[in-house]
Amino acid sequence: MSVQNEEAAFGRRPPREPRMRYLAPAGTPLAFSDLVAAGLAALGSREEALAARLARETATSRCWMTSSGRAGLTLALRAMSALRPSRTEVLIPAYTCYSVPAAVVRAGLQPRLYDLVPSTLDADLGSLRSRIDPRRTLAVISANLYGVPNSLDELEHLARENEIFFLDDAAQCLGAQFKGRAAGGFGDAGILSLERGKNITTMTGGAIVAREPALIKAIDALHSELSEGSTLDELMLWLKTFLYSIALHPVPYAWVRRIRWLRLGVTIYDPTFPIERYRASLAGLGLRLCEKLPELSRIRNANAESIERALRNVAGVRLLDRSEDALPAHVRLPIFVDGAARDRAISALEVAGIGASASYPLALCDVDEVRSAIPPADRDMEGARRIASTIVTLPVHPFCPPDMPDRVKSALLAALT
Ligand SMILES: *Cc1c(COP(=O)(O)O)cnc(C)c1O
Repeated sequence: MSVQNEEAAFGRRPPREPRMRYLAPAGTPLAFSDLVAAGLAALGSREEALAARLARETATSRCWMTSSGRAGLTLALRAMSALRPSRTEVLIPAYTCYSVPAAVVRAGLQPRLYDLVPSTLDADLGSLRSRIDPRRTLAVISANLYGVPNSLDELEHLARENEIFFLDDAAQCLGAQFKGRAAGGFGDAGILSLERGKNITTMTGGAIVAREPALIKAIDALHSELSEGSTLDELMLWLKTFLYSIALHPVPYAWVRRIRWLRLGVTIYDPTFPIERYRASLAGLGLRLCEKLPELSRIRNANAESIERALRNVAGVRLLDRSEDALPAHVRLPIFVDGAARDRAISALEVAGIGASASYPLALCDVDEVRSAIPPADRDMEGARRIASTIVTLPVHPFCPPDMPDRVKSALLAALT
């Protein structure tokens, strides 16, 4: 239809193409006022205040800030290993962030895998139990993916019963609770992350939290030896923070996501990350976002709930089986689609401007570098494989518009029938 015909058909000028928009898979909106306040706070270091705040959030007694969550994870594992040098194996979820096995290897320890239950993303306790060896097992690590806490009391109990350490990985679960207790605060130590795409972000950074005196002493010793990052690094981080605050908006994100060298959403296994101190000048931003965390979690959880409600009767879509004891702090919403329809669903959502993702592409037993590092008994994790092949994660951040649940539903209905 030519323009003239269109004008005739509509009786007026044709409606303009809506501006292209794309909802990032996950993110924390940063207002200009956040950046200004954080910049002012950077004049004096707020690192200790942020650490104290994160200890309070997780109801633990100590917190150390680190250059990343994986750096914190490595340090916590080294501290555990210093206390029990004869034990070398660390039990990790067979489906989680690739940084977890990378940190275990970086700490000079042996990764072992335990399976997850596909419908809940919770630990398969049978699989976990069968791999605990009282002479070799140093620690077990939780998954807590997408802001949904695992059955943390059971993991804690199992670890205590077998006298092994429990490291509660709350990199994606800051602000969530299980049976009224904060995720990250179970067991002997916890890990938090302030990377992009987590519950709150200062672009990079992580934290270890702990309660037990012997472990606190061991972590203190290791943490005090960490070197500072470079000033140039710190300046670059501020630039990145500024760009991120703009790029997360759906209109610029539609362009930004096409820039390949940003490698957005790419998951790689890399045990060569820096282990340094936290970039202290960003702590003010972290503190400000801690204030906003309850409201951010409320919005993200409400978005997750509305999307689940819209998808309840869509054939071919399975929703997460939720525990009544879990109070989530969603960073994304996981749903499940079987077979070839999964990739069709993701494409249809992307075309609709919704940053759906297949999350981590493989179960850890199928990631070459991990597979060669684990014993044969851990190389077939059927639950984790099933999660990797069926999961779709949906954005729930505050830029999601009110009609998003309907848009997700239409896209999925079209893709799955
Ligand atoms: C992100 C993440 C980590 C690592 O945190 P970084 O700050 O990115 O190093 C560890 N575990 C899980 C489950 C994560 O999602």
